[in-house]
Amino acid sequence: VAVREIVTIGHPVLRQRAAEVAPEDVAGPEVQGLIDDLLDTMRAAHGAGLAAPQIAVPRRVAVIEVDHNPRYPYKPPIPLRVLVNPVVTLLDGDRFVNNEGCLSVPDLRGDVARATSVEVRSLDRDGRPQVEVWRGLSAGTFQHELDHLDGTLFVDRVDDRRTLSTWAQFERWRRAEFVARVDALVERFGS
Ligand code: ZN
Repeated sequence: VAVREIVTIGHPVLRQRAAEVAPEDVAGPEVQGLIDDLLDTMRAAHGAGLAAPQIAVPRRVAVIEVDHNPRYPYKPPIPLRVLVNPVVTLLDGDRFVNNEGCLSVPDLRGDVARATSVEVRSLDRDGRPQVEVWRGLSAGTFQHELDHLDGTLFVDRVDDRRTLSTWAQFERWRRAEFVARVDALVERFGS
């Protein structure tokens, strides 16, 4: 169990498709240790989630947890989720414009269109199948994390590159408008 180095954009591991975990391997020490390292590293960095490629492990494992996050104080809570071999299905054509950052893309944020409703099928850390529907801002969090397993970063999905900004400039110029929009989204979907 350890806080691992988070690799940043430019590292090839962030650009490859991560490999499935064999279901019989989920309970083994390698995958259980990976999950513990992801949790420790995510929490130490105040991430809303972390995917294994971000600690240079090309496996389809991610963790998500939001609880009064100082990086994203407007995000509603998401109880800890450990996702092994997750598959995301967009449930309809409804989209919202999220403004995202990433621990692997230091000091950059940008606008990304995300589905407002997704179904996520995966194994939990005990290897049991789980399926959940996530809506609103939380749906965006799941889409961002699970993109990492396919070698996709949020910057790939920024349609209008003029929305790219540092965190300080986002705080100064965009935050108030964005938080008002996000509050309305959270009110609509409850998450
Ligand atoms: Zn990320």
